[in-house]
Amino acid sequence: MLGRLARWLRLIGCDTAYDAQLDDRALAGLAAREGRLVLTRDRGLLARRLVRRGLLVESDELGAQLRQVLGACDVPLARERLFTVCVACNGALAEKTPDDVAGRVPPYVRRTHERFRACAGCGRIYWGGTHVARALADLERLTGVRL
Ligand SMILES: [Zn+2]
Repeated sequence: MLGRLARWLRLIGCDTAYDAQLDDRALAGLAAREGRLVLTRDRGLLARRLVRRGLLVESDELGAQLRQVLGACDVPLARERLFTVCVACNGALAEKTPDDVAGRVPPYVRRTHERFRACAGCGRIYWGGTHVARALADLERLTGVRL
């Protein structure tokens, strides 16, 4: 239900577990084991005994959700933290050189980019491009913060 919010939280560098397949009980257990804050639109989930720290996300609108979570959790929104967490799997991203990613990205991309990041979890490779500029612009628009 909050999949888009989860992806944006990862994009800004927050360790964000998200699994749409988990039921409430499994989700509450995971949060308790890993000491996580539960973000949900569901009051019933927050009432579960295992949920020690939870935040009821008030809006359906992504920008309002992001602003609420950033405000409530004191998450630093800083340019150097952006793109440090894999949006697909929540793995940590590490800096890579063009040589490191040879054979794992298209040759043209390898020739035309200096810096890459690779996910320690799923192996996905990221590099700068128009989508990065667009994500930054979207993030500024959604949060009202100039990055
Ligand atoms: Zn990943």
